[in-house]
Amino acid sequence: MKLLEYEAKEILRRAGLPVPQAVVLRPGDALPTVEFPAVVKSQVPIGGRGKAGGVAVVQNEAELAQHIDRIFALEIKGFTPHSLMIEQALEIDRELYLSIVIDTEAAEIVLMAHENGGVDVEDNNQSDFMRISLSDPHYDSVALQLSEYFDLPDQAFLLAEMVQTLKQVFVNNDATLLEINPLIYTKSKQLQVGDCKMELDDAALFRHPDWEFEADKVETNFVTLNQDGIVATVANGAGLAMSTVDAVAAVGLKPANFLDIGGGANEASVLAAFKRIVEYKNVDAIVINIFAGITRCDEVAKAIISAKNNLPNLPQLYIRLEGTNFEIAETLLQAESIRLFSSLETALVAVKKELS
Ligand code: GDP
Ligand code: MN
Repeated sequence: MKLLEYEAKEILRRAGLPVPQAVVLRPGDALPTVEFPAVVKSQVPIGGRGKAGGVAVVQNEAELAQHIDRIFALEIKGFTPHSLMIEQALEIDRELYLSIVIDTEAAEIVLMAHENGGVDVEDNNQSDFMRISLSDPHYDSVALQLSEYFDLPDQAFLLAEMVQTLKQVFVNNDATLLEINPLIYTKSKQLQVGDCKMELDDAALFRHPDWEFEADKVETNFVTLNQDGIVATVANGAGLAMSTVDAVAAVGLKPANFLDIGGGANEASVLAAFKRIVEYKNVDAIVINIFAGITRCDEVAKAIISAKNNLPNLPQLYIRLEGTNFEIAETLLQAESIRLFSSLETALVAVKKELS
């Protein structure tokens, strides 16, 4: 799951890292009172906003209002923002790059750094990045290496603290990526987090019942596989969603989509998924395969019932539910005469039979 910049920065701020002051703005909100210059930033779950016009430095209220309107309407790589972040602008001296990633081959947590960060970071040769293992680090020496590499000798102490905190944030939040680009070195010689990209491991949701991020609501986990497919799928967890698609294909039926409703799925988000599915012209069956942990079967059941009542052309449903609050879900569905299958296999046998 990808966090939005303001969500990631809030985590960093709480951990004590130097993050500029910011306010988050939703459509219809009044113009905030901010100090100028300020930066207006689109909160879409994708990078490259700067180049796409989604980041603007503004000098006064008129410019602020103008860019808020413009950026709210600006689509970037298929995403339009549900929120903007207005941040105190920094006077940039240098833009550096810092990230923590998992090197799966070496089975290590690794710090990557580059002296030329910013929007053109991809232009840097992959082999030019400085790579330091953080698996068993000595933070003072890591920081010394970094401060030499960045040519910021008087920042070694701060860098040591920063890297240590970042590693903690990375581990404590089950992150798979934590990227600060740019790490801004200001004209007043301070290091500040200019941008932060953070991805969390969905498989760790069970450890974080408090996780509630916008990414859950943006439906990034819905992928069309075949526009003319005849079976739509709804599952939770990327693994189960993939195996559901595979099982549909294995019985000789064309799957229309892949959908992982995610761990934090609720009635509204599941209903939103059904609305997308009814857009497919050829879909005659929806296979719902839920193994509930964090997701609760009763929430899914409520969404199913709501979809049945509100979407007149909803295709036939083939539902297999298991896990948290199954009994409640079963009672709810039975009251509506909605049938349940005990396994994905029996559900697919029924699909096969009824579609042919
Ligand atoms: P991205 O393009 O999606 O990675 O968005 P960023 O948040 O990294 O912003 C892109 C670029 O906007 C940065 O590399 C900076 O050059 C510029 N930028 C961002 N924040 C500030 C700021 O506070 N002051 C100034 N002058 N430029 C900024
Ligand atoms: Mn960036």
